[in-house]
Amino acid sequence: MPANILNLSSYTVSQITEDEHDYHIATTVTRHPLKCSHCQSENIRGFGRREQLVKDLPMHGKRVGIYVDTRRYQCQSCNKTFYEPLPDVDEKRKMTKRLVEWIGKQAITRTFTSIADEVGIVEGTVRSIFRDYINELEKTVRFEIPQWMGIDEIHLIKPRCVVSNIKNNTIVEILKDRNKPTVTRYLSQLKGLDQVHYVAIDMWKPYRDAVETVIPDAQIVIDKFHVVRMANDGLERVRKSLREQLTPKQRRGLMHDRFVLLKRERDLTDK
Ligand SMILES: [Zn+2]
Repeated sequence: MPANILNLSSYTVSQITEDEHDYHIATTVTRHPLKCSHCQSENIRGFGRREQLVKDLPMHGKRVGIYVDTRRYQCQSCNKTFYEPLPDVDEKRKMTKRLVEWIGKQAITRTFTSIADEVGIVEGTVRSIFRDYINELEKTVRFEIPQWMGIDEIHLIKPRCVVSNIKNNTIVEILKDRNKPTVTRYLSQLKGLDQVHYVAIDMWKPYRDAVETVIPDAQIVIDKFHVVRMANDGLERVRKSLREQLTPKQRRGLMHDRFVLLKRERDLTDK
């Protein structure tokens, strides 16, 4: 029997079966308990068993279910019964601890449903693990005030303000919307605002107003991307209005005129 397939020495594998989608791995806990979990007496005896399903990391593209043949004990001293504890398992979630950890990390970059499908659990469980994982991360992560601050927007259901650190290429915060009061309130509670030298924004006026109010010493820079895009839009409008005044014959002569305009200067020929 390939006892090491799980790479978990706390379990002894007794049987492995598989079908198209799943591995079923039958196991027992390797080390039996020596003491009563209620009174610590060593005077315990077996009192039946039950099978517990524990989900584990997907393996070879299949879902993995560990079926633990768990022993139940009765204490001869206090008369209470108890099941042997499952090592390396998050008993609340009926999963190995390494699976919980893996789901938390995967959920940063993948959809919850794709993870739920791959592991064979419901999406709500992925969501709850992700929430716990993020809460843990937030306890340890501290952001530095950006010397070069970026204020832009992202569309998540509605437009929201995104604050970034342009020097480090990191996102600092996403706000609930991009209104001036929200941005002003956020900027006002930051510590070390005198460290902010430049703030790059798009052409959204509330951003400029908020920065001018809260960080008056910082230099505001309009992100080139937005300027170039507006210039391109302007040129496109002029081109279209000129086209409308042309005769059909002239228009045919100017077929692909848009591509001529888009070409780099060095790639243009007289023709
Ligand atoms: Zn006891």
